[in-house]
Order: sequence, then structure tokens, then C-alpha cells
Amino acid sequence: MPELPFVEALVESLRPLAEGRTIEDVIVRSVYVLKTFDPPVTDIKGRRIAAIRRRGKLLVFDLTGGLVMVMHLRRNGRLQVVPRGKGRTARDLAITFALDGGMDLRMIEVGPKKAASLWLFPAGQETKTEPLAGLGLEPLSPEFTREALADMLGGERTHLKRFLGLQRHVVGIGNAFSDEILWEARLSPQAMTTSLDGDEVARLHGAIRRVLDEAVASHRREFAGALPMREPVHLLRVHRHGKEPCPRCGTPIAVIYYEDRETYYCPTCQAGGRVYADRRRSRLLR
Ligand SMILES: [Zn+2]
Repeated sequence: MPELPFVEALVESLRPLAEGRTIEDVIVRSVYVLKTFDPPVTDIKGRRIAAIRRRGKLLVFDLTGGLVMVMHLRRNGRLQVVPRGKGRTARDLAITFALDGGMDLRMIEVGPKKAASLWLFPAGQETKTEPLAGLGLEPLSPEFTREALADMLGGERTHLKRFLGLQRHVVGIGNAFSDEILWEARLSPQAMTTSLDGDEVARLHGAIRRVLDEAVASHRREFAGALPMREPVHLLRVHRHGKEPCPRCGTPIAVIYYEDRETYYCPTCQAGGRVYADRRRSRLLR
């Protein structure tokens, strides 16, 4: 699932290609992609893309004439800018925006599960409803302080791994970067939010900022202005690096399944030497 660094790199690369362009036509190919029907999607014809922003894992397009378009790529949605008409009947095509100047902006989604989504709102309404309503703080903003994080942790009794992915406290973090952050902070994915002491809260706060800040920079370098298509697993240190040596201590990285998602961690650095039971497997054996 594209997380903050991926979407940030995507937005930065998309701006020079699409900002200032007028949407001349829109072709909806997947019945699943549109989540709003009023205003109708045809209303965006003739409008200019004034600005493209990121909010959490979402892309926000400010269109002229008071319309806002919001996109969520989910796991397999991607954006491409290609010459007009290219591959318009492709099976994995979700929606195409024909831009002035002869290029198409298209959203594709590979795989059988169609979850990529698009919403259209009158400007000003977008923050009052899903998916933007109720989102938490941007982790790289000045508002995300150690004190703010301490308040969030105190108000949500759950495992750290789950807490980081919730979006109502801190946005933009998913399965991959929650592992990276907890490894950096030397905290267990199964530790409880309400059990952290002051030093641990400080470590978690510092790790969130440092890991995401560095990942934005490394994603920028990796894609070098191109629209990212594949998530760069090699830029991650522990997530999807199971059995490889921990970059800090050399212990093989372990994996557990938590709420049907893989969680990678170092047993030595993060769990006091403990290797947690794979609960998915033990359930099957029972
Ligand atoms: Zn380690």
C-alpha cells in the first residue's frame, strides 16, 4: 500500500505534468472507482487543475470553479501520464482524464481486488466527510509534537503496530512504515500505547519524524521525477526483509501476522529477545 513517502514522491512528480492543465474529457472505465455521484464526474470537464496536494495517503486535486477531487490509490492503484489515447481499453484501467496538450492522466489498478477510489466534492465540503474528515496530524508538520503524540497514545489503548496505522491520530503510515518506525524506535509492535514511559514516547516521536523524513528523501532520489509505480522494498530496512540480519544487531528479522498483515521486527532490538508466536499459524494448528 502506498504510504506517505510514496504518495509524496508521486505528488511532487505529478505537479509539473498536470498542474495548470485543463481536463478536456473524463472516461470512467471501472464501475468501482467513483465513490460520489453528486456532483457528477462529468462536471470536471473544462476545469483546470489548479493544485495537487497530499493529505496522509490521499491525493487532493483543487480544480477551478470550486471543485475538489480526492484519490486514494489503496494497495494497487497507480497514476500514469501517457500520450492521448494510449491503452484506453486496457483491462486494468480505472479512469482516464484527457488533459489539454495531448496527454492522458490515468489511474490504473492491477489485480482482481478493486479498491482504488475517487471522490468529487464542492470545495469546502471535502474536509467534512469521508475520506478526509477525521484524519489526524501530518507527522512531518510542526503540530506533531512529542506532547501531541503522548496525548494520542494515552487516548487509544491498543498495540503500537495498530496505533500507527489508524490514521485518526497520525496520517500516512501503513503496514510497511509502522514496522520501519518501531524498529528505529526499538519498540515492540505488541507493546501497548498506554504503557510507554517518557523516554519511549520520545523515541517513538523521533523515529516517526526521522524515518518518514529520510524515506521522503530516498523516494525522491529513487524515482527522480518519474511517477512511482513499484514500491521500493530495497529502501526499507526490516519490512519484507524477514530472516535477513537486523541492520543494527545482526539477529534474523522475524515476522508475525497481526490482523492479517505481516509485521516484521527484530527480536533482540525490539522484543527483549522474544520471538512472538505466529498467531495465524497456531490458529490453523489448533
Ligand atoms: Zn536488531
